[in-house]
Amino acid sequence: MITRDLLLDILKNIAAVIKDNRQFLTDLDAAIGDGDHGINMNKGFKAVEEKLDTVRDKDCGTILKTTAMTLISTVGGASGPLYGTAFLKAAMVVNGKMEIDNEDIVKMFDEGIQGIIMRGKAKRGEKTMLDALIPAYEELMNSLKDGSTIAEAFNKACKAAYDGVEYTKTIRATKGRASYLGDRSIGHQDPGATSSYLIIKTVADTLN
Ligand code: ADP
Ligand code: MG
Ligand code: MG
Repeated sequence: MITRDLLLDILKNIAAVIKDNRQFLTDLDAAIGDGDHGINMNKGFKAVEEKLDTVRDKDCGTILKTTAMTLISTVGGASGPLYGTAFLKAAMVVNGKMEIDNEDIVKMFDEGIQGIIMRGKAKRGEKTMLDALIPAYEELMNSLKDGSTIAEAFNKACKAAYDGVEYTKTIRATKGRASYLGDRSIGHQDPGATSSYLIIKTVADTLN
């Protein structure tokens, strides 16, 4: 169960982790993209953090919807609309709810991924954020089915996301700016998969 206060903590912690990793994400993007992923993500989550005070007494759906709209309107790059759509889809699952239960979490994760796929038309194996998110989702779902607590399930999901980031080093990008590099994108880890891993890790760390 994730309470509203815990959700607010998670979002605040994501903003802090993204800020700490701003340069790292930007360096990863400089190698295979246009070198702005850290800047984009930090701009977005800094704006989200600044909005949190205005939604502190609202339901989880409103908090996540505000997060989504803020990301969509402040992040310039491809990642803004993609993460924004994911948060918007997740928000709809918990519309009006003051707490998020395990069933909601699985649904939110699934809907979020479907939103990214709908918006970006990518699939697993194209060297994008989906290569961290989809394995993490599958691990989360299976762990909860096997009786793990939500904190344990997120730890396992985090490990799967990490492996997903490692996997992106071995493949060629066929979506996003990195696809312009073709085979030269091989050997580099995907910046968006890395930010997705960091977000999942922050959820896990906040719950544990
Ligand atoms: P931009 O490429 O516009 O500068 P960012 O640098 O912020 O945007 O984000 C780049 C990341 O976005 C990539 O590393 C990749 O993970 C993700 N991405 C790009 N295009 C897609 C897509 N069509 N579907 C899913 N993720 C994508
Ligand atoms: Mg970029
Ligand atoms: Mg850009």
